[in-house]
Amino acid sequence: MVVIPPRARTLLRQAAQTAAANKRAAAEQLYRQIIREFPQVADGWVGLAEVIGDESEKRRVLEHALTLEPEHREAQQQLYLLDHPEADPPALENENRSPILVEQADAPSSDGGDLPPAPIPFGTLEPMPQAADDEELIFYCATHPSVRTNLRCYSCGKLICSRCSRHTPVGWRCNTCIHEAQEVYFNAETAHYLLAFFASTFIAGIGGFIVPIVGFFTIFLAAGIGSIIGRVAFRLTGRRRGRYLPHTVAAAVVVGGLMPGVLAFLLSLLLVTFTGEMSFLSSFNFFWRAVYVALAASAAFYQVR
Ligand SMILES: [Zn+2]
Ligand SMILES: [Zn+2]
Repeated sequence: MVVIPPRARTLLRQAAQTAAANKRAAAEQLYRQIIREFPQVADGWVGLAEVIGDESEKRRVLEHALTLEPEHREAQQQLYLLDHPEADPPALENENRSPILVEQADAPSSDGGDLPPAPIPFGTLEPMPQAADDEELIFYCATHPSVRTNLRCYSCGKLICSRCSRHTPVGWRCNTCIHEAQEVYFNAETAHYLLAFFASTFIAGIGGFIVPIVGFFTIFLAAGIGSIIGRVAFRLTGRRRGRYLPHTVAAAVVVGGLMPGVLAFLLSLLLVTFTGEMSFLSSFNFFWRAVYVALAASAAFYQVR
């Protein structure tokens, strides 16, 4: 008789409850976690067979369970039903006439002398008898098997911990569900990205011409220009959202904002080369250009976000 470790038993009960709540995907995930951790426990394989839809995989899983525990009643029942889809389930309760028992007699006995497994009502989703329920239920995160939790994702029912979930206005959600919801929310396409980029570059470039004139007042001007850029980009894209739209706009502000400075620098390099007059290089305002770009880019970023 296979001894089931306490943790496996806990996980099994947890999986059975998830399956009973009709959360098949979550239950399947749990059973797969169980067979990964405890491949020798037949109950895990049998539980998995109950929640997977694919018949050939179901059969493989059940046959594997029977190699681990040849007399596993539920595995035999499920396998029998796979072979006889038209079978009347209640007939199985009459154990003496059940064809399963005939097969079972032929099957090699593991070590004999053990108590026969308690009869499991047909069609039950709980591999564990409810009677043994006095110990406290311990749940583990589906992503982090060592983390105890009793938190579930409100949309998919998966067990989650604080590391792999976030609190949303409607409840706790797993990262997968949050990501999926965001993909629906983010509707900007390549054309919108391009539009936002070029518009932002253009406006930021105009600001880049003003900066050397206003000097210190760049501090007051930059955030204003950045926020205008953000608003324009938002309008131009039809108020769309994009995961990387804020980054695109911020990058455009850096490119556009530095463009006049770079052009001016190249121009004065030419002048210095041809006239030999070094004073052309002194009028740059590198500092204020950097301040402008940093402030405007972050203002635009938060405006678009
Ligand atoms: Zn979820
Ligand atoms: Zn986790």
